[in-house]
Amino acid sequence: MDQVKISDSLQKTGQNGRPGLKRFADRPMPKSLDLLHNPSLNKGRAFTEEERDALGLRGLLPPRIISIDEQIARVLATVRGKKTDLDRYNSLIGLQDRNETLFYRVLIDHLAEFMPIIYTPTIGQACQEYGHIFRRARGMYISTADRGHIREVFNNWPNDDVRVIVVTDGERILGLGDLGAHGMGIPVGKLSLYTACAGVKPTQCLPITLDVGTDNEELLADPQYLGLPHHRIRGEEYDAFIDEFIRAAQQRFPNVLIQLEDFGSHNAFRLLEKYKNEACLFNDDIQGTAAVTLAGLYSALRITDEKLSDQTIVLFGAGEAAVGISDLIVLAMTREGLSEPEARKRCWLIDSKGLVVAGRKDLAEHKKRYAHKHTPLPDLYSVVQSIHPTVLIGASGQADAFTYATLSAMASYREHPIVFALSNPTSQSECTAEGAYRSTHGRAIFASGSPFPEVHLWDRTIVPGQANNAYVFPGIGLGVISTGATRVPQEMFYEAAKALASEVCEDDLKIGRVFPSLDRVRDVSATIATAVAKYAFRSGLATVEEPSDVLSWIKSQMYDPTYKPYI
Ligand code: NAD
Repeated sequence: MDQVKISDSLQKTGQNGRPGLKRFADRPMPKSLDLLHNPSLNKGRAFTEEERDALGLRGLLPPRIISIDEQIARVLATVRGKKTDLDRYNSLIGLQDRNETLFYRVLIDHLAEFMPIIYTPTIGQACQEYGHIFRRARGMYISTADRGHIREVFNNWPNDDVRVIVVTDGERILGLGDLGAHGMGIPVGKLSLYTACAGVKPTQCLPITLDVGTDNEELLADPQYLGLPHHRIRGEEYDAFIDEFIRAAQQRFPNVLIQLEDFGSHNAFRLLEKYKNEACLFNDDIQGTAAVTLAGLYSALRITDEKLSDQTIVLFGAGEAAVGISDLIVLAMTREGLSEPEARKRCWLIDSKGLVVAGRKDLAEHKKRYAHKHTPLPDLYSVVQSIHPTVLIGASGQADAFTYATLSAMASYREHPIVFALSNPTSQSECTAEGAYRSTHGRAIFASGSPFPEVHLWDRTIVPGQANNAYVFPGIGLGVISTGATRVPQEMFYEAAKALASEVCEDDLKIGRVFPSLDRVRDVSATIATAVAKYAFRSGLATVEEPSDVLSWIKSQMYDPTYKPYI
């Protein structure tokens, strides 16, 4: 197949090919089967008569031409007709491999329906079965066998204009643990959301899995496992590998935004700390989760008419999500006038050993700043009884941990307990939406990580909000790459949270939803990107000139999947 440098800017040819035939910025348009096998350019049966003549497609396609609307109807019928969500996932990924424009048109126009298929919860199952469902490589696998040569391996990627990399080492995939190289579903899915939600061009996105081994014995014994069958490298060996990867990525794609995704918490915090001031890099599990959760809290506090800095917050779980959320809440509370130590004291963490308290000898570094003086408490129920949180956030991966007794205890001292059960996928959620409403007589303000259907209770319909990171990271990414921002500081996540909260309207709140409808996510992403871009301009991180109307400028850069005429 021709190596085509894909650019979205089709240009008129004067020197090459037939008169009127368009070409890409720096290469001729591929033809014939090369064109049909190029998912960025393929239109399938929608190629016109003229294009079929000019591009050597006669005879290679069924003769009856159909429009993109007819193609969409066919895709919908096929995908909806599948028996399982995993079959729907395979069907959509197959489409993405054949015809990206059609894939994104379908996804964008039916985002609420298909986001749970191409992302959580179905993506979790897809990763668990990746060895069996794998058909065609997307993105790049960089393995321990590539050590010392990662920069050269990057040369194999045909596209120079990569602006966003989402990378995982597969150690903590959703709440499912170590899936090694099968974690690839996550960067692929997240980058699809960059494009669908915020219009980042598909050609600017690069999913990467770092195969540093796996400690999942089942996978190591499975002949279908896609990664190298060895245990994880650790310590200095691991750090050197990551360092080589980051440097090589920066050299190959200067100023690329790197999103770290689903790394184990012992590495995630360290890597973020090490590289946040050296690279244009963030960790979505830590920082993106924090922004979406803070936005949900701001919305919930509109219902209770309270200030964030007056809340007592218990986080069940003390890992990436919980500590990331706490750190951003602390920043937000300081903006309301609290000192940092005062703000920290309002956040309490619980890990698998109980309440995180001063004096515990077993605390990882990232938990220590939330280890307050208190008698040790073994479980969530006793913490709720003792600390009386106004907000309870679950980020533990422990299904059903928010029991009826715990939530009804909260409802005994609080009119509207704020309960966010964030663990993914749905099977790991700390409680169901219905469980939260039933145990609090319908008074809880609830949000979850994976989507729950609306709940009908006591003649009321309550719509649970989904604290979906997809509200936030695509818009942050768009803001960063549009401005050429060189770093992604914590303030950008604070700006993103405020921008997301500002998109929640009174009608959303009336039905109990603390996030906007997913159908509006492209507008929401544009608002977030604008807030992030404005921060980049005023803080001096931007490397392009500030336009007079930032929102219109941001919107003008968003990819909209439509077929462009090729002649
Ligand atoms: P992590 O592995 O870094 O942290 C998990 C934490 O849970 C650890 O601190 C662990 O000690 C604690 N834990 C485990 N068992 C426990 C128990 N029995 N009691 C109390 N605490 C216990 O993982 P993470 O990245 O923080 O993610 C945690 C969960 O949050 C996952 O299910 C993930 O899918 C979910 N998550 C949701 C969103 C979202 O909704 N937007 C975003 C990120 C993560």
